[in-house]
Amino acid sequence: MSFDSLGLAPSLLSSIQQTGFTTPTPVQLQAIPAALAGQDLMVSSQTGSGKTAAFMLPALQRISQKPANKGRGVQVLVLAPTRELALQVSEAAEMLGSQLPDLRVATVVGGMPYGAQLKALARRVDVLVATPGRLLDHLKAKRVDLSTVHTLVLDEADRMLDMGFIEDIETIVSRLPESRQTLLFSATLDGTVAKLAQKMMRDPQRIEMASQNERHANITQNLLYADDMTHKLALLDHVLRDASLDQAIIFTATKRGADDLAEHLADQGFDAMALHGDMNQRQRLRTLSEMQNGRVRVLVATDVAARGIDVQTISHAINFDLPMQAEDYVHRIGRTGRAGRDGQAFTLAVHNERHKVRRIEHFIGHPIPPTVIAGLEPQRTFRPRPEGARTGKPRPGAARWHGDRPAFGAGAGTGGEAKRFAPRTPSANPWKPTAAPAGAKHAAGPRPERASHGKTFAPRGAGAGAPAARPGAPRGNAGGGRRGFNFDGGRR
Ligand code: AMP
Repeated sequence: MSFDSLGLAPSLLSSIQQTGFTTPTPVQLQAIPAALAGQDLMVSSQTGSGKTAAFMLPALQRISQKPANKGRGVQVLVLAPTRELALQVSEAAEMLGSQLPDLRVATVVGGMPYGAQLKALARRVDVLVATPGRLLDHLKAKRVDLSTVHTLVLDEADRMLDMGFIEDIETIVSRLPESRQTLLFSATLDGTVAKLAQKMMRDPQRIEMASQNERHANITQNLLYADDMTHKLALLDHVLRDASLDQAIIFTATKRGADDLAEHLADQGFDAMALHGDMNQRQRLRTLSEMQNGRVRVLVATDVAARGIDVQTISHAINFDLPMQAEDYVHRIGRTGRAGRDGQAFTLAVHNERHKVRRIEHFIGHPIPPTVIAGLEPQRTFRPRPEGARTGKPRPGAARWHGDRPAFGAGAGTGGEAKRFAPRTPSANPWKPTAAPAGAKHAAGPRPERASHGKTFAPRGAGAGAPAARPGAPRGNAGGGRRGFNFDGGRR
């Protein structure tokens, strides 16, 4: 199936070709013809599925069918939860609309100076991409007229609702013509999203791309249990030295945690930077562009800051801290495996977080396969659940923690064996940077005991291993590094 059969105008087909897309993604295949037919749409689709083009192409098509809207108001309004996502949507609009004569795209987002936005709004705007709060400021000050909008897009609607934008959205929508077309994209279409849709959409067609279960089929998910912070850092170090790692995004629970971990990793020789909401917009954009051009390989981020990040070379998404909300797990791991590539997701958890892991597993509808890195096994582990045990409510007596081995085995909630990765060479200092030869991410070493998943992690070079140091390593807060730091964060 090609883009030619979707009913798009030649000017758009030509910009799609320039963008390099050859085949429509599943969400584009379904949503584009329905949107072109004028239908209101509620679409559930994961980030990375090509949803931006799925709404932007039909919206641009409507613009292309009208004479330039000289001197009048906005034609297409896209509301997005975060600055980063809004900026990406604007970029997509410019790329996909590059063949439309004199298309004007403006971005109005919080945390950015007003000057450039005032200037943009003073001119004709065809596509306006905005975060709700800042748009409302401009609306109240009568700097923008929305009475000519023919297409409203609510991008990541569930997220906007989570972030408390409901009233802002309602006020904004009350300024739009009733005859508009509304396209709503969201990870979920139920609950508050369904209520929002009922209020502001006309007989919307639901397009549900994939169940939670089927999503992220291209992302290999792994769960690593850690005994304590020192162990967690050793596991993280091991994962970051995986030869297949291109770029990684690591999630922490707090802004301070992100700063501390980024600094620690930089000390260990990784090209790491933090990204969080305490940074001003210029710093955040600079960090993102460093990530995009590959100068930064490891981004340590909080949930909100990472929302909508689309860097196709992110091969690994790592939950250093577990997400507060189970659904954030889905958003987090969706930062990898972009545009049809394969991705790896690692979730680190300490023993007493098992209930949180279960909540995530319940939400995603399947267990996260537990993984053991040989030489870095948890000292404490839990008894495997009996064959056939399901996620959800634990059965009495099942999955109890106990202090001795063996670790995970057949039936440990995955229906199969826990993965095992190659042992690492023991060393006195778990945080000593790798002594692998320049250019080689890994030195050769012993083969893994088994690799039931068909993928092996080679051991790190001499001097990089952790196990020998672990028995005597300090317990509790991270003390294994050369410098002490504190991961308790506090600020979110
Ligand atoms: P989105 O879901 O809109 O965040 O898109 C994720 C990524 O997929 C973006 O980097 C797009 O450039 C890319 N993309 C969108 N549509 C296509 C397509 N038809 N073929 C290949 N890549 C695409």
